[in-house]
Amino acid sequence: MRVVVTGGAGFLGSHLCAALLARGEEVVCVDNLVTGAAENVAELYGGDGFSFLRHDVSDDLYVAGAVDAVLHFASPASPRDYLELPIQTLKVGSRGTHNLLGLAKEKGARFLLASTSEVYGDPDVHPQPEAYWGNVNPVGPRGVYDEAKRFAEAMTMAYHRVHGIDVRIARIFNTYGPRMRASDGRVISNFLVQAIEGKPLTVYGDGSQTRSFCYVDDEVAGILALLDSTHTGPVNIGNPDEFTVLELARHVIEVTGSSSEVSFEPLPEDDPRQRRPDISLARRLLGWEPKVPLGEGLARTAEWMRHHLGTGGV
Ligand code: NAD
Ligand code: UDP
Repeated sequence: MRVVVTGGAGFLGSHLCAALLARGEEVVCVDNLVTGAAENVAELYGGDGFSFLRHDVSDDLYVAGAVDAVLHFASPASPRDYLELPIQTLKVGSRGTHNLLGLAKEKGARFLLASTSEVYGDPDVHPQPEAYWGNVNPVGPRGVYDEAKRFAEAMTMAYHRVHGIDVRIARIFNTYGPRMRASDGRVISNFLVQAIEGKPLTVYGDGSQTRSFCYVDDEVAGILALLDSTHTGPVNIGNPDEFTVLELARHVIEVTGSSSEVSFEPLPEDDPRQRRPDISLARRLLGWEPKVPLGEGLARTAEWMRHHLGTGGV
């Protein structure tokens, strides 16, 4: 297969490019590097089958030659990034998704959208199954990301219904691992850097809000299983092990052997109170479930961070 991966120089996209190459696919990575980095794909250069196109996918896009699949991962993704880039985030979810569906239509390619647990907003159904429609504040600060992804899902389904495009929608829950940007502001990046540097871990609110964290290798395996499946509607891909943010802080301190304390800071506006995927559908359809427990994934990520902090690599 020849696969276009947008956002391929980002955290998740770079792991996906590597996994696709490892199973023998050709990869065209398209990225404007707004939140990603060329270093993330540096080791893929030179090998067979990898090419890089620096381009903003919210602008018209032309890819020469045959394309069998389009994986649309381009978007600012961490709350810090999308709050700093609200209009770019809305554009890449709307115009970018439209452009890439157009590419898939022209090439007769399969299309996979990187959607998100944020389509459920601050959920009042717990855990979240795919059938839940969500609880999103469209005019709040997070609306720029949540509504962009909800629009992207709607556009993807419209192209499927109207043009018969073969589509997949991965609803990705909080994912972590090597190559996360140390400054992306996400909770695991912040806590690991703070613990390694011996600074207080900044818990927002009282730390009782929950998240369910998936190690990147598990996430990529789930995304590829979905790509290879025949299922059209959205599928939750995440780890159902749920932790409060305070529990996460304690795990990070333990895994890194840090002497850091915890400090409490204000809770950001519209911060979801709870989040946990119901992955029954992924288990049944794809025979997939995550394997890496939080402690092990944190240890691997901490080791990577230690090597890369201060080297300019993150
Ligand atoms: P990331 O910021 O590391 O990667 C996003 C990549 O997209 C970056 O390389 C960035 O430069 C690129 N990009 C952004 N806008 C672009 C544009 N207009 N044109 C071309 N490239 C552009 O983030 P990530 O965590 O790797 O997320 C990747 C995808 O997965 C995103 O679509 C995100 O919404 C989705 N997702 C991620 C998570 C997670 O926990 N990591 C959870 C849910 C959904
Ligand atoms: N959070 C925190 N301290 C930090 C960064 C984040 O307590 O330094 C909290 C944040 O308020 C949220 C959770 O951790 O409740 C996850 O935040 P993140 O930005 O990683 O992703 P989200 O799931 O909110 O998109």
